[in-house]
Amino acid sequence: MSTPTVRPAHPLSTTPAPLNLLGLDAQALAAQVSEWGGKPFRARQLLRWMHQRYADDFNDMTDLARDFRTMLSQECEISVPPVSSEHSSRDGTRKWLFAVDRSNAIETVFIPEDDRGTLCISSQAGCTVGCPFCSTGYQGFSRNLSTAEIIGQLWYANKALRSQPQHSRIGSDQADLTTPRQMPERIISNVVMMGMGEPLLNYDQLLGALRLMLDDNAYGLSRRRVTVSTSGVVPMIDRLGRDCPVALAVSLHAPNDALRDKLVPLNKKYPLAQLLDACNRYLEHAPRDFITFEYIMLDGINDTDEHARELIALARQIKCKFNLIPFNPFPQSGLKRSSPERVKVFARRLMDADIVTTVRKTRGDDIAAACGQLAGDVTDRTRIAERMPERAAIAIKERG
Ligand code: SAH
Ligand code: SF4
Repeated sequence: MSTPTVRPAHPLSTTPAPLNLLGLDAQALAAQVSEWGGKPFRARQLLRWMHQRYADDFNDMTDLARDFRTMLSQECEISVPPVSSEHSSRDGTRKWLFAVDRSNAIETVFIPEDDRGTLCISSQAGCTVGCPFCSTGYQGFSRNLSTAEIIGQLWYANKALRSQPQHSRIGSDQADLTTPRQMPERIISNVVMMGMGEPLLNYDQLLGALRLMLDDNAYGLSRRRVTVSTSGVVPMIDRLGRDCPVALAVSLHAPNDALRDKLVPLNKKYPLAQLLDACNRYLEHAPRDFITFEYIMLDGINDTDEHARELIALARQIKCKFNLIPFNPFPQSGLKRSSPERVKVFARRLMDADIVTTVRKTRGDDIAAACGQLAGDVTDRTRIAERMPERAAIAIKERG
């Protein structure tokens, strides 16, 4: 057997770093195994050990030949970033902070509901888009996560949730943390790429992770149970449609370019007309699907009846649903959540125009795990954070 392709551990080190097998999708793992002189079924065995039995020690993989296991132990690893803290919300939501390197930490959130368990995963340490209503945007950007760091969040959460007693009243306001109950086959039934970062600005690493999520020898999730949320990276929406058309959520947040330029600065590069065209092209790859438009509800900024009218005209151009997200405040944003009455009226306007509309329930806000509150710890390399207060001020001026 030949030795695996290895990378140096550090520019100054002569010892090669072990190859982290967790980040290889089926195709990459098969290629690697074949390079070692192994048969394709060995790659499938490895995938199942890692992603279905959550093994992290090659010696536990008893159906692999002993010399193969020895070589794997010497040259490879199965490694997820260390968890530096963990929080549980009163509503059963769980949040983990992963230290992805010395200066960056990212967050992952598990949201249990009666009929599903959703894991919200991060794709980058920070984000370059810099939306003024988002706590991650305020942090600036440090780096893209690797496939292993992205899928590692799902691996770890699955392992952690399986090893603990199931909460007896998951999804209720007061989860009972003591009474074990029958574990469902799949605790995590859905994955949403809605944690820190813009997934489509880390495309290649994201794609590897998505492929593992859908692989029957790994997590075996159906295409519709995996959602990529994007602020609208048009060329990458096209690539995702061709490569792996999972469910697509688009962070719309404004019904016209003037306002969207301010709320989602990427709009200046890919304005609404281009974004909507890309959404329609995406649906050609998934004809029975629809686009979910996420729309954050900001008091006096994007929540008037006139905004609703503009949105309705826009929604007519595409097969879509709306998910209204009450803004989750965080220090420095200077923005306010629309009142529950306003959210209700806004939703009613859309529904009266036959647009399927839901309002997202806020979960885990007592542990800062709600949408837009994820901030981990990011070493900003872009200085975007310095410009953010200015941006928020511009957005606020739109009020009234
Ligand atoms: N970058 C991607 C995915 C991560 S953000 C995107 O923007 O789509 C996931 C969702 O959380 C997006 O819809 C985003 O607009 C929303 N969000 C960000 N900040 C928020 C906040 N403070 N309150 C509520 N939702 C927020
Ligand atoms: Fe980035 Fe999404 Fe936050 Fe905007 S909302 S700053 S795109 S993570």
